[in-house]
Amino acid sequence: MKKIIIIKYGELSTKKDNINFFISKLKNNISIILKNIDNEIKYDFGRMFIKVNEKDIDSVVNKLKKVFGILEIIIGYIGNELEIEKIKNNTLSLINDKKFNTFKVITKRSDKNYPINSMEINNVIGGFLLKNISNIKVDVHNPELSINIEIRKNEVLYYFNGIKGLGGYPVGTLGKGLLMLSGGIDSPVSGYMAIKRGVKIEAIYFESPPHTSEMAKEKVIKLARVLSSYNAEIKLHIINFTEIQETILKNIPHDYLITIMRRMMYRISAIIAHNNKCNILINGESIGQVASQTLTSMRAINEVIKMPVIRPLACFDKLEIINKAKEINTYDISTLPYEDCCTIFVPTHPVINPSVSKCEEYEKLIPYKDLIHTAIKNHEVLIIKEEIENKYQDLL
Ligand code: ATP
Ligand code: MG
Repeated sequence: MKKIIIIKYGELSTKKDNINFFISKLKNNISIILKNIDNEIKYDFGRMFIKVNEKDIDSVVNKLKKVFGILEIIIGYIGNELEIEKIKNNTLSLINDKKFNTFKVITKRSDKNYPINSMEINNVIGGFLLKNISNIKVDVHNPELSINIEIRKNEVLYYFNGIKGLGGYPVGTLGKGLLMLSGGIDSPVSGYMAIKRGVKIEAIYFESPPHTSEMAKEKVIKLARVLSSYNAEIKLHIINFTEIQETILKNIPHDYLITIMRRMMYRISAIIAHNNKCNILINGESIGQVASQTLTSMRAINEVIKMPVIRPLACFDKLEIINKAKEINTYDISTLPYEDCCTIFVPTHPVINPSVSKCEEYEKLIPYKDLIHTAIKNHEVLIIKEEIENKYQDLL
C-alpha cells in the first residue's frame, strides 16, 4: 500500500461562493513550501491529497504543520485490493501498532457499483476487528480511533486519526498588512495572529543607531525569519529613526516624547504600507500595557492616520502573550537583551492622557514632514526567507 497525505481544511470550508479561491491559494502556498520536494497535489472542496515519496513524508508533514488553512493532516494508505476479505486484513494490519480501547469504522463508497454498501462494510469490518483484537469495543459517538475506509473506482483509501493543523485562512487570501515589528515579545505574536487570519505581512522596524545596536536589528531580522516560516517570505522595511528621535528629544516636552514619537512611527508606517499595497497596519499594542497604550494615548496616536490599525493583542494579558510567543518560537529571541529605540528614550513621567491639541502644537516645533520624507527615501529593504541571500545570512 502507498502512503498519501490528506488535508482537511480549516475555517475556509465555510466559504461558499469563493471557496475555490481559498483552496487554490492553499494549494499554491503548499506548492511553495514543497518546491524542493517531488510532489503531486489534487483537491476537491472537501480535502486535499498530497502524494510525495515515502522518504519525504515526515518532513512534508512537519512543513504542513506550519501552513495556515489546514485543520487536520492525516496520513492515509491507498491499496488496489478491492475484495472485502483483503480490506478486512489490510485494515487489521494497518491498525496493528495502534493503542486504543474504542473505535468506529466509517466507510464511504464513492464507487456506487461496489457490491456491498457502506453500512454493511462498517459492520463486517467492525465485527472482524472485534474478533481479532482483544479488549476493544465500538463507540460510535466518541471513538479513540476512527477507521475511515473509502471505496473508490479502482482503489481503497484507509486513514485514521490525524494531526491537528494550525487552522486559520491560507496566507494571502485576505490581502496584505504591514506589521510594526519591534524586538519585543508582543509584535511578533501579533504578526503571527494576523498571518493566521490569511493576511500576508510585510514588516517595518524603526532603528536609531547608534542609540540602538546592530544586535537589536539582528534580533528583529531573526524574528522576521521565524514569522517568514509561516508566511513564505517577508519584506522587512528598516527605517532609520535617529534624526527624528533626536529632534523630538531636543524640542518636545519630555512627557510627550513617546506620544509624538509614536505619531511619527504611525505616519511613516502608513506611507510605507500605502506604497507597498498593504491595507492595514498591525502592531503589538495591548490596552494598558504602558502609558502609550492607554485608551486616550491610543486615540491621540491613531489620530494621525486614516489607515485601519489592527491590534490582535489589544485584549490579551501579558502572560497569555508570553505563552503564545513560546508556542510560536519567538520568545527566546524576543528576550535577548538588546535595546530597541523605544526603551532608550523612555521619559520618567510619560503623559498618560495626552491631548491631541497639545500634540499638534508641539509638532509645529519640528520639521517633521521633511524628516519623514528623508527617512522614507533612505529606508533599507530586506527580503527575509528561509534561504536568505544577503549580508545577514550567517545570522539565520
Ligand atoms: P513589543 O510590544 O513588540 O513587545 P515593545 O513592548 O518594545 O515591543 P511597545 O512599546 O509596547 O513595544 O510598542 C507597542 C507596539 O509598537 C509594538 O508592539 C510594535 O508593534 C510597535 N513598535 C514599537 N517599537 C517599534 C520599533 N522600533 N519598530 C517597529 N515597531 C515598533
Ligand atoms: Mg509591548
